[in-house]
Amino acid sequence: MPVFLDQEIKFLPGVGPQRAEILKKELKITTFRDLIYYYPYKYIDRTRFYKISEIHSQMPYIQVKGVIRAMETVGTGNKQRLNARFYDETGSIELTWFRAIKWQKENLKLNKEYIVFGKPTEFGGKISVVHPELETEEEKLLQPSGLFQGYYNTTENMKKKYLTSKTIHKMQLTLLNVVKGKIPETLPKELVARLKLMSLEAALTNIHKPETTVELKKATFRLKFEELFFIQLKILALKHNRNQKFKGFRFEHVGYNFNKFYSDFLPFELTNAQKKVIKEIRRDVNQHTQMNRLLQGDVGSGKTLVALMTMLLAMDNGFQSCLMAPTEILAQQHFQSISRFLNGMNIKVGLLTGSTKVSERREIHEALQSGEMQIIIGTHALIEDAVMFDKLGLVVIDEQHRFGVAQRAKLWQKNELIPPHILVMTATPIPRTLAMTVYGDLDVSVIDELPPGRKPIQTMHFYENRRKQVNNFLKQQIDKGTQVYIVYPLISESEKMDLKNLEEGYRHISESFPEFKISMVHGKMKPAVKENAMQHFKNGESQIMVATTVIEVGVDVPNASVMVIESAERFGLSQLHQLRGRVGRGAEQSYCILMSSYKLSNESRKRLETMVRTNDGFEIAEVDMKLRGPGDLEGTAQSGMGFDLKIANLGKDGEILQMARNVANDILDDDPFLQKENNRLLLQSLLSNKETEFDWSSIS
Ligand code: ADP
Ligand code: MG
Repeated sequence: MPVFLDQEIKFLPGVGPQRAEILKKELKITTFRDLIYYYPYKYIDRTRFYKISEIHSQMPYIQVKGVIRAMETVGTGNKQRLNARFYDETGSIELTWFRAIKWQKENLKLNKEYIVFGKPTEFGGKISVVHPELETEEEKLLQPSGLFQGYYNTTENMKKKYLTSKTIHKMQLTLLNVVKGKIPETLPKELVARLKLMSLEAALTNIHKPETTVELKKATFRLKFEELFFIQLKILALKHNRNQKFKGFRFEHVGYNFNKFYSDFLPFELTNAQKKVIKEIRRDVNQHTQMNRLLQGDVGSGKTLVALMTMLLAMDNGFQSCLMAPTEILAQQHFQSISRFLNGMNIKVGLLTGSTKVSERREIHEALQSGEMQIIIGTHALIEDAVMFDKLGLVVIDEQHRFGVAQRAKLWQKNELIPPHILVMTATPIPRTLAMTVYGDLDVSVIDELPPGRKPIQTMHFYENRRKQVNNFLKQQIDKGTQVYIVYPLISESEKMDLKNLEEGYRHISESFPEFKISMVHGKMKPAVKENAMQHFKNGESQIMVATTVIEVGVDVPNASVMVIESAERFGLSQLHQLRGRVGRGAEQSYCILMSSYKLSNESRKRLETMVRTNDGFEIAEVDMKLRGPGDLEGTAQSGMGFDLKIANLGKDGEILQMARNVANDILDDDPFLQKENNRLLLQSLLSNKETEFDWSSIS
């Protein structure tokens, strides 16, 4: 169905080919639709007029009525500017132009009433407005732009070409006139009525030129709902279709291996949270549908064990399992801890990574294909086509955010007809709203309890002036037999500097602690050297590990109970939390010491305060999302579910999101393929909306 809104933007009066080109290049706006869905980021109340005597430079903007009494050009060449003295009955201000001086001089009229709008600044004790917007009363009446004027983001390149927020606003007004009565509704009538939503056309009109705050609110709600609803509908349709299309293997027996492990080999009680999650998993795999579950749990909450018990369940039902980790060191660690758990049970476990020797690799390939090997642990190497299974029933993926949807799909294809069950584990807690969106096609389990006996990590924040006390503290701790991490930032833009800081830090530490052995690892080292240094520390041959964030993921040294993070203000919140998770793994009280410079931005201060206040990864994730906005969060970019929120905000619109998800779920439960007459509009929107389109082929 060709739609009016799909017309090219250059055909809109007042745009033309040149501006169309800029709009395309700078804002990716190519059609009427793109423009009308380009929303203001703020509104300014144009009903309010100020008197000149009220104006001060702290005001974000002003609107004044008055007349120009005098104009003069000052300076020469590109320093030239035009000054105009603007009066009302209470005083005067200066209006200044640096560009288009000639044009202004010819067009501005002395002693004619103007409405001036702009940002006041102070210069040498005098107030002036640079490049103000000027309108006569008549012009303002001719262009009813709504009482609140929308402001649109523009780029530097646009400003250079005089394409300002105001220009866009004018284009929007023209467009609204042109498309009046031609914007088709995208939501089914009864849904609009039931939820008391504003119609799409009214919402788009009001978002660009609201007359009242009430209407603006209703318009915003409608557009946010629609945006979130279609994302949810798409993700949930994927899930519903998948369940219809694929059968899943049924693991109905809880058999010998699971029971034997549970009663004879498991060295501790499962936490209630672990039991709950295992139950959820068992329910999933005991149906004929494929499990797609996300397992969230803070570092150290015991996810690996849950994964292992699921693998035993697979085995008891005649299936193989694989566990994929993002790095070699993590894969090794999983291999070691799982082998240790299973020591004494007759189960063949393999490790396959990029550095597995060719001969060994061949053996593993054969053992997997014959079914002789029941569990394989590894890295990306597992995805390779050469890796074939006899009967792959379960795929566990650790640290999902590093893999993404496409890679998940590759593992699915290891079976011809029925895809394996998928369990995704992540130690980076994700706020609920983000999980519903990025991992919206997965069911979510949460381990919200740490194994008993763990003492919460104590976190402190110090400035440089406490260095001596901190060093004394470290010495005390090491004398008690624990080990210490000291972490330096390494951020790509200033890698050289950072490396220097790290090496300098290493030297200082060596001088401060001559009695201790010190290891160092950083990203620029050869893997073997790095590995060696890690091993040293792990074996307790060194007491202090100086490192960059390479230790961030997963390495497990239970005896290390103190972590110092240098220049902590330079780390992101989730990264700080992730790092902190490296300590607190043993029985000792653990400490995390955040060192920072005195000068902190508000945001850095908030991050450090949050770290000191709480150990709860979910709370930290929420704060992180509020501080940074969801777009920046790790995982969204790589998730492969390209969605670009134009108006909704996952940090603030949790309720609307939940509502949108519920509505979408109800619709799909009733009509999974959207075949009913009522839902025809939805199907059309799904198929036509490229922005949120999935690559369905990667899944099916
Ligand atoms: P995660 O993968 O969630 O970071 P792990 O599975 O590595 O956590 O578990 C962290 C540590 O806690 C491991 O040494 C593990 O053996 C131990 N552990 C797991 N579950 C329990 C439990 N229920 N009771 C005691 N210790 C546990
Ligand atoms: Mg882990």
